[in-house]
Amino acid sequence: PYDVLVVGGGPAGASAAIYAARKGIRTGVVAERFGGQVNDTLGIENFISVNYTEGPKLAASLEEHAKQYNIDIMKAQRVKSLEKKDLIEVELENGATLKSKTVIVSTGARWRNLGVPGEAEFKNKGVAYCPHCDGPLFAGKHVAVIGGGNSGVEAAIDLAGVAAHVTVFEFMPELKADSVLQDRLNSLPNTTVLKNAQVKEITGTNKVNGISYIERETGTTQHVELQGVFVQIGLVPNTEWLGDSVERTRMGEIVVDSHGATTIPGVFAAGDCTNSAYKQIIISMGSGATAALGAFDYLIRN
Ligand code: FAD
Repeated sequence: PYDVLVVGGGPAGASAAIYAARKGIRTGVVAERFGGQVNDTLGIENFISVNYTEGPKLAASLEEHAKQYNIDIMKAQRVKSLEKKDLIEVELENGATLKSKTVIVSTGARWRNLGVPGEAEFKNKGVAYCPHCDGPLFAGKHVAVIGGGNSGVEAAIDLAGVAAHVTVFEFMPELKADSVLQDRLNSLPNTTVLKNAQVKEITGTNKVNGISYIERETGTTQHVELQGVFVQIGLVPNTEWLGDSVERTRMGEIVVDSHGATTIPGVFAAGDCTNSAYKQIIISMGSGATAALGAFDYLIRN
């Protein structure tokens, strides 16, 4: 069996595996796609100490770094379930079972897609999901934020500082964000809120040039010209496969303590699949290191 088996090979998983392997213990990583969400990222400017890099390049470096150590890397494998017996047993979709004394779950998350025409087509060509990451690309431009919950309104406030104008699209008649955030948004001169607005299509030619939406009250279709669209309708953790085996929040995020421990002894978690406060590369890597050190501590005590 492994001492530490890491499920997921994004920034959190790579970091956890390297930290574990450096303790000289038997370490494995099983991942569907090494590098995780980083593969889908264009420019990265907030990975501290690296002025600028690109997703596929950072993903390759993560794997290169992991390969410097004695880590069993199992790629293109999906994990189906986890069960604690004497050891922790992790079942793969291909039918194989991996056994380990500890497991670090780092299966990440995915942005919830809007599912309208233009969204997939213009991804990274004006359609963005992360205001902390891509906001500065839209300096001086007119952008939309789709979604009037806390993350949407926070994104709109954030973007209003760099963009020329921000229009928030909310499907429902009212915003769902906390009122303190709504007040802050309304106090900004360069923001507009469109409620009861159903986004129908993100338009463009080779990049985004606007949004078509239905005014739900009147049923009429309108078009707004703008250059960027931030979709903020939620982040979905990739934790469905865990079922009720481990405590998760209402949103499906795995609940971890300050050592990365979950409610199953010996099972740790890190990165975007947990209830960590913010979801970023550097934060995932930090929590991966924490979980690996937590797992190592657990091993020397048990
Ligand atoms: P992920 O990167 O999601 O990795 C999850 C891993 O788990 C992958 O290897 C995946 O294949 C695997 N996996 C999932 N389910 C299973 C399963 N059932 N079985 C086996 N393996 C599984 N952050 C920044 O700091 N700066 C940026 O500029 C930035 N830009 C971004 C741009 C985009 C378009 C996106 C989508 C995100 C961006 N982020 C950025 C956020 C950042 O990518 C994430 O916070 C980070 O990748 C999370 O790391 P993670 O390891 O927790 O999860």
